[in-house]
Amino acid sequence: MIEREQIEMDVVFVGAGPANLAGALWLKKKIAEHDELVDRGLKAGHTIGEIEIGIVEKGSFVGAHILSGAVMDPIAIRELMPDFLEQGCPVDSVVTEDAFWYLTEKGSIAPPIVPPPLKNKGKYIISLSKMCEWLGEKCEEAGINIFPEFPAAEVLYDGNDRVIGVRTGDKGIDKDGKQKDNFEPGVDLLAKVTVLGEGSRGSLAKQLMARLGLMEGKEAQVFSIGVKELWEVPAGNFEQGRVVHTLGFPSDTQTYGGGWIYGMKDNVVSIGYVTGLDYKDPNIDPHAEFQKFKTHPKVAEILTGGKMIKYGAKTINAGGYWTMPRLYGDGVLLVGDTASFLNGQRIKGIHTAMKSGMLAAETIVDALGHGDTSSKHLKHFEEKVNLSWIYDELHPVRNFHAAFQKGRWSALINTGLQFLTKGLAWGFMPKEHHVAGHQRMEKVSAMPANGRYDQVPFDKELTFDKVTDVFYGAVAHDEDQPSHLHVLDTEICATRCAEEYDNPCQRFCPAAVYEMEERNGRKELKVNFSNCVHCKTCDIADPYQIINWVTPEGGGGPNYKGM
Ligand code: SF4
Repeated sequence: MIEREQIEMDVVFVGAGPANLAGALWLKKKIAEHDELVDRGLKAGHTIGEIEIGIVEKGSFVGAHILSGAVMDPIAIRELMPDFLEQGCPVDSVVTEDAFWYLTEKGSIAPPIVPPPLKNKGKYIISLSKMCEWLGEKCEEAGINIFPEFPAAEVLYDGNDRVIGVRTGDKGIDKDGKQKDNFEPGVDLLAKVTVLGEGSRGSLAKQLMARLGLMEGKEAQVFSIGVKELWEVPAGNFEQGRVVHTLGFPSDTQTYGGGWIYGMKDNVVSIGYVTGLDYKDPNIDPHAEFQKFKTHPKVAEILTGGKMIKYGAKTINAGGYWTMPRLYGDGVLLVGDTASFLNGQRIKGIHTAMKSGMLAAETIVDALGHGDTSSKHLKHFEEKVNLSWIYDELHPVRNFHAAFQKGRWSALINTGLQFLTKGLAWGFMPKEHHVAGHQRMEKVSAMPANGRYDQVPFDKELTFDKVTDVFYGAVAHDEDQPSHLHVLDTEICATRCAEEYDNPCQRFCPAAVYEMEERNGRKELKVNFSNCVHCKTCDIADPYQIINWVTPEGGGGPNYKGM
């Protein structure tokens, strides 16, 4: 029996992303306002006083595991900190020019009008990693405790399924599960309220949703994966402040996908490609889709003479409003991408994530002020969301992603009509709006033989293989630890999956973690867990749902500083 230290906090935020960092800062501010109003007799309830707020983060520093495009709508940060620019918020560039390209095999069509949801002039191109690092500093200045290298490994419950905190992961366990000399048991962080803002497909949120039935009556979540590189390009290739979004090449018309190219300062270009993880063809490889995207003449031209400097990949929740889980339970709230706050039509989620964290904070203040952090008070979080601009933004695009489940052409007509009617779905929508992505994957035998990526040279100049890209993601895990990728039945991999889907994990993982290697006279699964960039694609896209991503030892993973 391992003895664990217990640390009593009041509120614990899991994950140092934009939702939780904004939420923690807002909580501090709102408690002070609440106490003043109560003291002056202008508000009912008790004063709250000084409380202990903690943020646990699995990365080695705040921002280490944060990856996004990213163009930020400043609406939320302006509410959080009206003088965010004066306070040194590290925005990279102001968007000065928008473009939308429909890419054909070799050419492109640029409609004279950029679709309104993709208009970004005046918004900010940022490195979300840098911005979170800066928000983390602001939190520390405000007296909020930040614990980097502390992965939350388990939700703690009382006997009535009330969430009472989280247990952080043990350190110093070897690959056979034995304690090493440097063994340190994880600690139990006990809290009146735990806020899960772990990003897309949070590992604790997954457990919690199943245990408390938070997805009952909701539509299945659908995800996409974004694969991104930063490039330094010659001056003049792509102007700072220019934002381009693309549709078409290389995705087929049945696959949701699109690209982005953002011009940052110092001739750095953020370039990436999003592939919906509800694709049908198991031969699809999202990393190779991105590499192929870069071979398009119009895209390659931008990168000519440049060099790739950073790599990363991350999933995003694409389902939107209908796929939000119940956002609360006794002692717990869910925020940000973990709870599907992203606007898929605008490809934006930073502002909605931050606002969700801030509304969660207001809910917590009310609950603490009443001395009751059960669902009775925490359920007001959902009302606050539905009364805020989050609802005004997400409800009209509630059917956006579902329209793509019948292919690109019906989606384009449907989304145009949705735009005019504030989101009404039309007859050519699928009956079930969202089918979980892995359920849409078809057997490899039903797909035509294809040479999707035969023309991609992987020449390490314009296009890169996964192992080279992982090097640029600065990924590191101590190899003498148990794998954090739990494959529940490897016999399925060697038999049914090989036959039915040709082991799509080898393709959907953007970091070459999964390999089928010759062993015992057949091909068996090898898991190179130390390559993992924590994107969560395998947990989402595996057709048998037998891969469980759990937190590795704290500090392991990519280093997305500046991404
Ligand atoms: Fe992403 Fe899973 Fe591959 Fe890790 S192992 S990089 S989480 S797909």
